[in-house]
Amino acid sequence: MVAVEPREHALGGDAPDALRVPDDPGAHRVEEVASPEGFAADPDLVHDFYDARRAALDRVEPNAAHRALALLERRWRDEDRGDVVLVTQNVDDLHDRAGSSDVLHMHGTLRTAWCVACDAHPEWTGSTNGAACPGCGAVALRPDVVWFGEVPRHLDRIEPALRRVDVFVSVGTSGAVHPAASFVQYALSRRAHTVELNLAPSEGSWLFRDSRLGPATRLVPTWVEEMLDR
Ligand SMILES: [Zn+2]
Repeated sequence: MVAVEPREHALGGDAPDALRVPDDPGAHRVEEVASPEGFAADPDLVHDFYDARRAALDRVEPNAAHRALALLERRWRDEDRGDVVLVTQNVDDLHDRAGSSDVLHMHGTLRTAWCVACDAHPEWTGSTNGAACPGCGAVALRPDVVWFGEVPRHLDRIEPALRRVDVFVSVGTSGAVHPAASFVQYALSRRAHTVELNLAPSEGSWLFRDSRLGPATRLVPTWVEEMLDR
C-alpha cells in the first residue's frame, strides 16, 4: 500500500504551503527561498529561512493522522497483511516521530543538510550557514530540501511500490504537484483501490473510488480503523 500524505499541520505539504508556518505567514516569495536561483542570489536569506523552520520542528508534534498511519504500518506488519509505503512531500519529521519506519521524503527533510561538495546528507541541527560538512570538511552545505526545478527524491523506490500497490490513499494533497499527482494514475492502472482524504476535492478527485472530505486528523484515524477491521 502507498500512502501519499498530510500537509495539514505547521510545516507540511506542497509548496508554497510547505514554506508557511503560523508565526511567519508567507513573508517571502516562493522563488526567493525555494529555488536554486534564489539561493544563488541571497544564500543568507535562504539559510535563515530553513534554519527557522528546522528550529520550529521542536515546537510541533505528530497529530492523530500521523499516529494513525504509523499504527497501520505496525499492525499490518505484525499481522503479515502487507507493507505500508509512506510517501510524503512534507519536509518535517512528524511521520518519523510518530513511528512510521520508512518514510520516503520526496522533497527532502529539514533534519538533514546536503553537502554539494561530496553529496552527503548528514543529520543536522542548528544552522547550515557557514558550517563545514562533517564528511569532507567543505563549507558547502545547503538546506536538504528539493526546490522548484529540482528532481524529487526516491522515485526509484516509489515507482516499484506503485507497481504492486493494492490500496492507494492520498491524504491532504492538492493533486497539482507532479509527479505525486500522477501516482494515483499508476495505482489505477494496477487496479488498486484508490482513496482520497482531503479538506477539499482535489484536481484529480474523479480518479478516486472513495473520496472523503474533512480534516486529516479526523478522516485518517477513521479510515485506518476501517482498514484494520477489514
Ligand atoms: Zn561534504
